[in-house]
Amino acid sequence: MFLLAGFSATSFAQRPASQTAVIPSPKSVLGFTPGDDRTIAGWSQITDYFERLDRASDRVLVQTLGQSTLKRPLIVAFISSRENILALPKYKEMQQLLADPRKITQPLQRDRLLANGKVVVAISCSIHSTEIVASQMSMQLAYELATAQDPDTREILQNTILLLIPSPNPDGIDIVANWYRKTLGTPYEGKEPPELYHHYAGHDDNRDWFMLNLKETQLITRLLWHDWFPQIVYDVHQQGSNGSRFFIPPFYDPPNPNISPLLLRQVGLIGHKVAADLQAAGFRGVLTNALYDTWWHGGFRTAPYFHNSIGILSEAASARLMTPATVTSDQLARSSTRGMRSATESTTNFPDPWPAGEWHPNDIMNMELIAARSILSMAAKFRGEYLTNFFELGRKNSEPRLNKGETLAYLIPAGQARDEAVAKMMGTLIDQGVEVFRLDQELHVVLSQQVLQRTNAATEKLGTYKIGGPFSAMQEVPAGSYIIFLNQPQRYNITTLFEPQIYPNRLTAQGEAERPYDVAGWTLPLQMGVEAPAVVAIRESATERKLTLIKDANEVRADLALPLQKGSESPIKNPVKQTVRVGIYKGSMGNMDEGWTRFVFDTFNVPYTSVRDTDMRQGGLSAKFDALIFPSQSSAQIVNGNAAGSFPPEYTGGLTEAGIKNLKDFVNNGGMLICFDNACDMAIKEFNLPLRNTLEGVRSSEFYCPGSIVALEVDNKNPIGATLPATVPAYFINSSAFTAAPDANVRVVARYAKENVLLSGWLLGEDKLRGHIALAEVGVGKGRVVLFGFRPQHRGQTWATLPFIWNALSTAAASSSE
Ligand SMILES: [Zn+2]
Repeated sequence: MFLLAGFSATSFAQRPASQTAVIPSPKSVLGFTPGDDRTIAGWSQITDYFERLDRASDRVLVQTLGQSTLKRPLIVAFISSRENILALPKYKEMQQLLADPRKITQPLQRDRLLANGKVVVAISCSIHSTEIVASQMSMQLAYELATAQDPDTREILQNTILLLIPSPNPDGIDIVANWYRKTLGTPYEGKEPPELYHHYAGHDDNRDWFMLNLKETQLITRLLWHDWFPQIVYDVHQQGSNGSRFFIPPFYDPPNPNISPLLLRQVGLIGHKVAADLQAAGFRGVLTNALYDTWWHGGFRTAPYFHNSIGILSEAASARLMTPATVTSDQLARSSTRGMRSATESTTNFPDPWPAGEWHPNDIMNMELIAARSILSMAAKFRGEYLTNFFELGRKNSEPRLNKGETLAYLIPAGQARDEAVAKMMGTLIDQGVEVFRLDQELHVVLSQQVLQRTNAATEKLGTYKIGGPFSAMQEVPAGSYIIFLNQPQRYNITTLFEPQIYPNRLTAQGEAERPYDVAGWTLPLQMGVEAPAVVAIRESATERKLTLIKDANEVRADLALPLQKGSESPIKNPVKQTVRVGIYKGSMGNMDEGWTRFVFDTFNVPYTSVRDTDMRQGGLSAKFDALIFPSQSSAQIVNGNAAGSFPPEYTGGLTEAGIKNLKDFVNNGGMLICFDNACDMAIKEFNLPLRNTLEGVRSSEFYCPGSIVALEVDNKNPIGATLPATVPAYFINSSAFTAAPDANVRVVARYAKENVLLSGWLLGEDKLRGHIALAEVGVGKGRVVLFGFRPQHRGQTWATLPFIWNALSTAAASSSE
């Protein structure tokens, strides 16, 4: 039965025994075996298969979690023994108790849970839709588990409950499947589609696991961290074609200091079991301890650590979508990455290089099937250990810490200027299971602003930092404030989201910066511009405090009247025009920053039109728009687009000279051009603006800032900086810093701070930023160009800097001649 959320116990009991039913193989339903060359199953074929499997097998139950961004059903298949499937509601309840040991009052109850519980394993396939093979593999894995009778499978079914997610991005499966079918047999066969494979996020759909901006992340977070609390989460990916055949943990350095070392050891243990099983099965080219690290929070495989669970990643070498790839030994020899000098050289973490040749989707699928079986078999064999470790981590995290000066809680004081950012942040925390209380009565506390403090001379290129900040006197906090205590199972989710990150200075032997896997800093209150000091002492005893637990994120949203519904007030207050006509440039290749820009506009119900290269070349822009936004993208990509011949003609070409001329006419006639980050280069070059990016061409040994939060000093007298605080945290990700020619017609809105620039993350060569221009406007003809050196809307997370965008648009058209 194909059930909606909220299924009941009786619906299981009523299921007929179906031992005699014929369980359909994927081939019998699809007409081909998943993983075969040049075959692909789209989303409706995948859901159709799982629906049939659900009907035929008493080991499989499929649930629809809700709808994706573009309204496709997002499903999960529960796979276990018939007895376990019949008792799913009971096991769900047990998991919820194991996840929060505070709910367990008697040792006997704990012993029963540990003796009778099942290890819950979640496997998620193809969140990155071009890494398509796992979505096809999911059907084969489900079929094998539904039909096999061997003792190993029986042990797995007996001791584990598998939550199999065929894809957390159904829309993307269809984007890729449709594109693949369309291009099969053409010169473009096997190329990735020239568009984002998630409506807003593209590849960044796996960068959203603490912010929960996307429908898909919200639904799966509910499944995993509200309902089922899996002990093991396996996220199945693919990497480039020319390196190792398969990456599996242990991960590379640096580790995140907020991850329990026990979890890192368990991750390594499972990874080595997978690697050994692959080797035993004759697969070569398996790599461990390389490239992928655990520093960053926000991925499908990293979020579990902060819920006391084991997160496993695998990265199989890609074919060309479902078309085989040919890999030469030259390509392998040239392939190097952190932890692997070359894909031809045998090392302890890569003992058996693959000898080059043809690489088929089926190779990927077979390795992924072995990895999945290997993880499930570990879970089944060490059932008791996984449950005990999971329980114990939650228990230790929930114990109160009594050392003087230690952080007890984080406080979100009432009366902050930006309630909607507070509501979004609180909602996001509650949705991932963090316990948040509202103060019903004032509380007396000692606070500490946790800020980064340099511990070496300020002139040194490599900064070393500690988290510091003086303690306040005992002060009163008003009722209506929110408080988040650290003594709860998700202790380290809270600390890793609230503390500033201090990324270690990691340099290569040549002295260049070693790139982190993803960003270096993400501190949530900083990104969102929300005040959230640490509480280090509370005068009132636990029994004297008057607090209410917020049970549902919507309570906070209602409290603070988050204006995200249709018909709410626009954040743009333009004195000249009621509605500012905004165009957002969408080039010929998928650009995540463009997607996130649309996401932010949709979130705040600000209307816009996507402007394509053909529109730009056609011209007449002044008649259609007051402002044009260019999301971060390189000048070459904007101007040239995809090269002729690289894609079907409708996907090639950029603005071209015609589009540039039309853009200049638009600004000269009074239009506003807004550029984010890299797109500033295009404007500076094409409009010959009197500004220079001082970071252009600077080596990473001199300056490096790969995704960190930095301080801006804002000129509030400039209308674009009005309403913002004097100091604002901004997101810098290999971004820009400008100097202006003397006497140039440049109005500076914000500069990088003159000291203490780094707020969270990694900044090498701080002096290269200090005091330089971060945000400026330049008059051109009757119009203006607004240059954001940083990312004001990064991944939909940086609410602190969104007001700059709304303010800029509030001044658009003010100078036009209408
Ligand atoms: Zn991926």
